[in-house]
Amino acid sequence: MAVEIPIYMDNNATTRVDPRVLEQMLPYFTEKFGNAASRNHSFGWEAEGAVNNARRQFGALIGADPKEILWTGGATESNNLAIKGAAHMYAEKGRHIITSTMEHKAVIDPCKRLAKLGYDVTWLEPDGYGIVYAQQIAEAIRDDTILVTIMWANNEIGTINEVPEIGKVCREKGVIFHTDATQYVGKMPADVNEAGIDLLSASAHKMYGPKGVGVLYVRRRRPRVRLEPIMEGGGHERGMRSGTLNVPGIVGMGAAAEICNNEMANEAIRLAGLSHKLVNGITGQVETAVLNGHPTRRLPHTANLSFPYVEGESLLMALKDIALSSGSACTSASLEPSYILKALGASDELAHSSIRFGLGRFNTEEEVDYVVDKVIHAAQHLLMMSPLYDMVLEGVDLSKVEWAAH
Ligand code: PMP
Repeated sequence: MAVEIPIYMDNNATTRVDPRVLEQMLPYFTEKFGNAASRNHSFGWEAEGAVNNARRQFGALIGADPKEILWTGGATESNNLAIKGAAHMYAEKGRHIITSTMEHKAVIDPCKRLAKLGYDVTWLEPDGYGIVYAQQIAEAIRDDTILVTIMWANNEIGTINEVPEIGKVCREKGVIFHTDATQYVGKMPADVNEAGIDLLSASAHKMYGPKGVGVLYVRRRRPRVRLEPIMEGGGHERGMRSGTLNVPGIVGMGAAAEICNNEMANEAIRLAGLSHKLVNGITGQVETAVLNGHPTRRLPHTANLSFPYVEGESLLMALKDIALSSGSACTSASLEPSYILKALGASDELAHSSIRFGLGRFNTEEEVDYVVDKVIHAAQHLLMMSPLYDMVLEGVDLSKVEWAAH
């Protein structure tokens, strides 16, 4: 079967809306257009019913009570509300926050903001696989620690942190635990009670739902978590997030969650197979290529490969009929090498010559075959033109070479 160009393989940046999701959303733009906060007529009741149904659908995906699901405008907002909201609400108790250098900017920047306001932030470093361990959290917790925020799976390399173990540590020490689960939820099984999670962020557009809608799970019992709102107004969403709800978007997020819940097990197996084929296909032929992150403790659909001695921009140019990412979309506007790969010890050059392959629900095996073929040819061609690789073949130890400034 011929493949259609361009091929989309950047599903960690965003996913296509599943047609089944779109179908469920459409009536809420037209005949069912009510405001979910209108209490006096059937238009409002209908919208409120749909929003509550979506709360139930998303709650079921993460083992939460529907009342614990708060709608937001996406995971950036969820992260900001969780981190700033908890920090301000519990400031009397303490001002110490624990996070990691591997987090998404939507966690890093709110933490930096709090540091400017006088909070003390501990930045944990991952190991060479990009994983942050529960033991590190246990060692960093102090009497004045009020919040731990560690992502469930990394957006660039897909490695999965020890979230249930971290939840256990936080529970024992009585510290609130937030996890940015944007890349994880809908792809892998999650249960907020089993994992000891108090706050969890997710986004519809990473799980085949629409953009601009997200969830913040907020635990209501044992312990009851309270947050100071960022947006104040009509008191929607238990007073924590005012603003008229995006009903079609929320219906879409609920529908997307239900499909993921039903299909996740099979989808993960299929995508793990494709990802395996892709990684083995490429590294089998391009002997310099290396997989970043953990070989197995990884999201099944995400693979990040580095191509040493190959110029990253040239490689992406040669692959321009495939939508791929070098680093994350959120930072690709800047020419800075990925801070995630640098945290793993990669040099600027190596970070620049790294590519994230983000497989998804709509990718086919034929597309993977096409991509493997293209990458092998492009990488081999660029290696042949690389003076550095020539030196390696001649047996020069590059670590001993003195480089002119460039
Ligand atoms: N956290 C992670 C781990 C992400 O990958 C993203 C999206 N790049 C976000 C947060 C931000 O999500 P949103 O686009 O919904 O604001």
